[in-house]
Formats: sequence, C-alpha cells, structure tokens
Amino acid sequence: MIQMQVYDTGTRKKQPLFADGATELSIYVCGPTVYDHIHVGNARTFAMFQALVNYLRFSGVAVKYASNITDVNDKIYAAAATRGMSSSELAKQATEWYVEDTTRLGLGRPDMEPTATGSMAEIIALVEQLVERGLAYEAGGDVYFRVNEYREYGKLANRTLDDMVAGSRDDLDPGEHKQHPLDFTLWKGAKPGEDTSWDSPWGKGRPGWHIECSAMAEQTLGAEFDVHGGGIDLLFPHHENELAQSRGGGRPFARLWMHAGMLEAGDGSKMSKSVGNIEKLCDALDRMPAWQLVLFYLSGSYRSPLSWSEQGLHDAQVLGTRITETLRRSQRYLATVQTKGVGEDDSFADSTREWEGIHEALRDDFNTAEALKELNGVLYDLNTDVDEHANTQLVRNKRKAILEFLQVFGIGALEPAEVDVTAEAQALITARDTARAKKDFDESDRIRAELEALGYVVRDTAGGTEVINSEDAPEGEGAAVVGDDPDVVPDPDPDAEPDPEDVISAEAADGEPAQVDG
Ligand SMILES: [Zn+2]
Repeated sequence: MIQMQVYDTGTRKKQPLFADGATELSIYVCGPTVYDHIHVGNARTFAMFQALVNYLRFSGVAVKYASNITDVNDKIYAAAATRGMSSSELAKQATEWYVEDTTRLGLGRPDMEPTATGSMAEIIALVEQLVERGLAYEAGGDVYFRVNEYREYGKLANRTLDDMVAGSRDDLDPGEHKQHPLDFTLWKGAKPGEDTSWDSPWGKGRPGWHIECSAMAEQTLGAEFDVHGGGIDLLFPHHENELAQSRGGGRPFARLWMHAGMLEAGDGSKMSKSVGNIEKLCDALDRMPAWQLVLFYLSGSYRSPLSWSEQGLHDAQVLGTRITETLRRSQRYLATVQTKGVGEDDSFADSTREWEGIHEALRDDFNTAEALKELNGVLYDLNTDVDEHANTQLVRNKRKAILEFLQVFGIGALEPAEVDVTAEAQALITARDTARAKKDFDESDRIRAELEALGYVVRDTAGGTEVINSEDAPEGEGAAVVGDDPDVVPDPDPDAEPDPEDVISAEAADGEPAQVDG
C-alpha cells in the first residue's frame, strides 16, 4: 500500500489514509438533495472526491466509493409545489439532471449511488434501534434523537454546547415536540401538503435528512469504513448528527473525516441561491469545456476556499492550452527526429521519475494545486528537451507522465487530435515550403489562405509548414509553445514578455484547514 496522509477533521490533524494492514479503502461522500440542477459549488465537492478516488486507483489502491442521492426532503416538497409537480416527479427529474451534469465532467462516477427512498427499510430499522437503546423518543408522530444521552456530541465539529444551542435555534419548527433544543429529527410524521409518506412503527411519515446518510453509508460500505467526506458546510449539524446516530447505534462508523472547502463568489462572498451569485454546473459546461472546469477545481487545495472568478477560469484555460501544445510539439519532434523501430513509441516509456513530485504533492493531503505546479515543471522540462534535441527516450518518458495525468483527472480531451491531412493539403504544404525556400512570400501567403479555406490552421515551424485542424486549434491561435519558465504559461508570441498574471493560482494551497462556517 502507498504512504498517504490526509487532514482528518475529527482529530484536526493529518492522519495516515490507510489503516494498518488495509488492502482497500472505502469512502462515503454526501451527495446532493435533488430539487434543481446542481451548481458549480456542489460540483467542486463531487469533482474533488472523484479525482481522489481516480488517483488512488491509479496508485494501485482498491477503492469502494459510495455517494448518496437525497431524494426525499423538505426542500424537494417546497420546490415541487413551486413548479406545480409532485415531489417524487421532481426528485426523479433532478436525479437525472444530477447524473447527466456530473457525468459531463468526465471524471467517472461513484461505484454506488444509493437513494433515501431506496433505503427506507434500513432507515426505519436504525431509528427503531436508537429508540430501543433510549437514544431516541417518539413525540407527536415524530421521532427525535436525544442529544443529552450521547456524550460525544459536538466532538467532531469541535463545538461547545452553547455554540450548538445558539446554532440550533434556526432549526426549531413550531410544530416540533423536542425535549431539548439540540435534539434532532430522525423521523417526521406526515404533514398536510406532503405528497409522499412511508409506513413506520410511528405512523406514516418520512425520514430526517441525517439518518438517511447513516443508513445509506452502512448499507453500501458496512458498519465501519475508512473515510466520510462532504463539503465543510455539512460538518455541523449534518455530520455531527450522522456520527451520533451511528456511534449511538453501536457502529464504529467512519475512521476519518475529509471536508472540501467552499467555492466562493469572485468577491469572496459565500455563493448562495438567494444572493443569485451562483452558476449551475450545466450552464458552466455549456460555456467551457469540461477540462477547463476540472483544471480550475484542481488549481486549489481541496480544503481551502476557492474563488469562482473569470481569472481563475482563464488560468485553467491557459494551462490546458499549454498541455495540448507541449504534447503536440513533442509528438512532432519524435516524428521528425527518429525512424520509429521496435520499442520506439510511448508505450515503452517509463514515467516513474516524472511522477515523483506529483505523487509527493498528492500523497500529502491530496494537494492538487502543488501537483499542477509539478506538472508545469514536467511541461517545462519536456519543452526544454525538444529545444535541446534531447534523447527521444527522455521525451517519451515525460509525454507518458503527462498523458497519464490527463487520464487520471478525466481531461484526456487535452491530448491533441491527429491531424487529417488530405492529399490536396499535403501538395499545398509542399508547394508552400518550396515558395518559402525561394523567399516568395506572396505565393506562400496565397497558399496559406488556400489551406485555411480547407479548414486548417497554418503554423510556421523550424521543420516547415505545419497544419492542424482548425477545430482543434486553441482559441486565438498563435505560434507553438516554447520552453519558457515552468510557472509561466506560454504567450502566443514566443518573443513577447510572459504575462505574470498567467500563472495557475496556488495561493489557496496554504495548508491551513478550511474555515468552519460558524
Ligand atoms: Zn450526508
């Protein structure tokens, strides 16, 4: 097993990710409540945990990954009423949106995606056990968890009783029958206007939000599992309550707790639907390629707040272009400097050395911001190799590392497409090179226009005229990438001063735990 540590919210320090003698890792992450399209903030949590799972698998770790879908909830009843549809119809529709939208990110999906409505028997059985143990009580058709009977309450979120009582006031409903203000609902009796309910020992009703996750985590991963994840905004009360229910019910539950930081609006304020400063994931993916959004998420350490800004998205776009152009340039180099024989292709390359720095960053609390800096270093070295006509084995090794990185993080679309050069285009390329050799630039410009009319972008390289299919050309196509500073992205004009703004932002990777929302 690899050596890796992550910051555990429960103990407030970094801990080994793998238990002694472990042969696999099990992860449960809180998924969405389905009443609308998810937004780019929700998608950050989805992307970061899926990226972690993908990276662990690339490192040879067997992973079991479950993430739930909350498909019965107050928010769904309210949104369904506004839309004039039944809550079950809306939940079904919004579940489809969630699966479609997150699949478009290209990172893959959790192995198991249990739903609350599909876990009703397990949920009711767990509530019954808590009642039998004296940790829960029925009142007026509702069932509540008795917080005073669970001594560890508040330990996970590191909160005092006063904090928690103050924070709980918002949750008090007029119709509730709690014995203590911190007691929380495990089962809610059916109310007028709610169009779904399930039979239970306490009458018709439906589960509270927290108990759903306790039941679904156990149903998918067992009574004890390695990592429980989610957004930091879920730490209290949701995760504190999950832990109280499951431990109170005699289960060991999660060994480690990992929390993803919030995505903030560009001005540093919290994104929220009510403020209207939020973008839906599907809208973001309509206006940019998925790789750009994924690179944007990776540009910050997962625990730190990340700012949803055009600058951050631009930086991600520039890095993506740099990756594609570096791969294209090195591919051309390999094609021109060697006659390919046995063993002379990327499949015989060895990327071990190039991965060292990237592994080091990712195995220290999955620091993707630092990993992107390491990747930038590999891009720089690869461009230098090409500049210096280095040994082709070195070039192939670096290319392999970059291509593997793209596969792990679902951004394989950055690999340059093969150029479809027709016989007609090839004849024009040869004619243009002849014209340029004779310094007949009028003729060479005329042929350039002809090639462009055929759907190519034309580049002048040391090896002569080169074309790429125009749909594969970067926006605002310029010259090919040069081997410049590893932390600075290429400028379309190789002789221009690099723009110091064009760096992948790493200020979020400060190693400080993300701030807990008070
Ligand atoms: Zn949950």
